[in-house]
Amino acid sequence: MSKRPNEPILGGMRTQAVHAGEAPDPITGASAPNLVMSTTFVSEEASGFSAHDLDDNSGFLYSRWGNPTVAQLERKLSVLENAEACLCSASGMAAASGLLLGRLSQGDHLITSDTNYAGVAELVRDTLPRMGIEVTAVDASTPEKVAQALQNNTRMVLLETPANPIVRLTDIEAVAQIAHAHNADIKVVVDSTFATPIATQPLKLGADFVFHSLTKYIGGHGDALGGAVLGSREDISALRLEAGIHFGGVLSPFNAWLIMRGCGTLPIRMRAHEEAALEVARFLEGHPKVKRVIYPGLDSHPQRDLAKRQMANAGAMLTFQVENGLEVADRMAKELQVFHYAVSLGHHRSLIFWMGTEDLMNTSFRLEGEQLESYREYAGDGVFRVSIGLEDGVDLCADLDRVLG
Ligand SMILES: *Cc1c(COP(=O)(O)O)cnc(C)c1O
Repeated sequence: MSKRPNEPILGGMRTQAVHAGEAPDPITGASAPNLVMSTTFVSEEASGFSAHDLDDNSGFLYSRWGNPTVAQLERKLSVLENAEACLCSASGMAAASGLLLGRLSQGDHLITSDTNYAGVAELVRDTLPRMGIEVTAVDASTPEKVAQALQNNTRMVLLETPANPIVRLTDIEAVAQIAHAHNADIKVVVDSTFATPIATQPLKLGADFVFHSLTKYIGGHGDALGGAVLGSREDISALRLEAGIHFGGVLSPFNAWLIMRGCGTLPIRMRAHEEAALEVARFLEGHPKVKRVIYPGLDSHPQRDLAKRQMANAGAMLTFQVENGLEVADRMAKELQVFHYAVSLGHHRSLIFWMGTEDLMNTSFRLEGEQLESYREYAGDGVFRVSIGLEDGVDLCADLDRVLG
């Protein structure tokens, strides 16, 4: 076979999503990637035993250090995100915790977006301070707030855009400029799970790291947990040694194989997700029982200009508000036929879940004053967080209409 594995393929996003990181098997000619479940690999010569002996040219030794199937996915994701390198992990939270604990030390300061995925929000508010890391949560949708929070010991700025659950956006380029002007060594990190590389490529906008829950759009089918951190070769090598090999939350090759299959259809799925999401968002906006819809693809989104500038695809995450949300949620859980009333997002099945503001404030975000007001401006007393799947938009609208009454 002439093609070497891991040879970068030049071409458009759809070609890259299918081919990058993959190559026909040189022995069997198999067109689909191999699923290599071996935990250990036979050496052809005596070699060192510590992860410190590894470099980019080391072969495979043990699957916690590196696995051929996982490496193929890492290559594919690197190409899609325009990154030099990628480290996959067991889940999105393993990516987040590996990156935060791998980069931050006692005495360091982290600035985090005040609204983000609940697991990440709780990790930075509860665990990091226990490790002696100082944390300031700011409304990063106003870049000046990040500027005001910068300190001499600030080492990282953690953003999420669009942010869970309210779909509020952050101008990555503006924040990266502010942070790097203060100190070029500050790492700007973006959780880009809602956006996917089809919509936004944060590294091109000045971010130093991007991470994903592969469980969501990139895997796309609700059947495999996974995570990934992407960045420079040097940064990812350091992270692989500590967060990967020593913390140990590595991705199963089986999940890598499933997620790689999901990747091939990511660009066309995102188009279909966006198309159906726009149809549902417009339907909800015109519905008499609906008070407010927030979707980056609607002209009514408070940051529509930023959405147009920063997102090549408006995605399929939207929220809406109604009177008596909790009661309606209960009806939805019992009566929806097409939607699944369930957490998670980015699957081919549409998912919906009620997110009460008071609950979220008590458990995850704990915002007050101006920050709480800004959250309420997007969420009121609570929102339905909707992840539009790949069904026909007309059926999704009918399902919601029946339950909304
Ligand atoms: C789901 C999610 C995570 C966590 O990912 P898991 O794969 O569930 O561990 C992190 N960030 C965002 C934005 C998510 O949606």
